[in-house]
Amino acid sequence: MCLTPCASRWRAALSVSGGVGGTATYPARFCLLLAANPCPCARTESSCTCRPLQRASYLSRLSGPLLDRIDVQVALGAITRGDIQAERGVGEASALVAERVAQARTAALMRYVGTPWRTNADVPPTALQRQWPIARAALEVVGKAMDDGHLTVRGYGRVLRLAWTMADLGGVGTPRKGDVDLALGLRLGPRWTAVAA
Ligand SMILES: [Zn+2]
Repeated sequence: MCLTPCASRWRAALSVSGGVGGTATYPARFCLLLAANPCPCARTESSCTCRPLQRASYLSRLSGPLLDRIDVQVALGAITRGDIQAERGVGEASALVAERVAQARTAALMRYVGTPWRTNADVPPTALQRQWPIARAALEVVGKAMDDGHLTVRGYGRVLRLAWTMADLGGVGTPRKGDVDLALGLRLGPRWTAVAA
């Protein structure tokens, strides 16, 4: 499912559940991708004419509770002519990426043999902490992010799951500090710099 740009349309997306007045369970698993421009005019930073208040108002339409349910946030800079000319369609092949993902999913599957879970996303964070603990030192920054209000309890659990995915992609077994920090950076998006400082 992909909604673009979500800053304009998320209200419509949420009205699906709000309209029925309850929770509906569908027999489906899906990956929700949202994309948003940084401001209403959507021009590059150098030619943007939006006032700071306009930008803030536009971005505030993405509510905190909605963003708290998004596991990964990535800020993308504007693509330049140089980027396009340098690329020439020679990026990493999808088949190679798919192979890496398959290996990571196999690593998770092996770890969760004998449990009801198959992927990191399936495992409740409390079970993840209890049965597959990460070294305390590796979790220092993520703990600080929570203490400083950058991360909710839900966010903390999502970072743990994401750290395991980073470790599975790297083939390193238990997540190390670098995996946890990377997961936190992906979770917080542009806010990561405030935590890392
Ligand atoms: Zn603008």
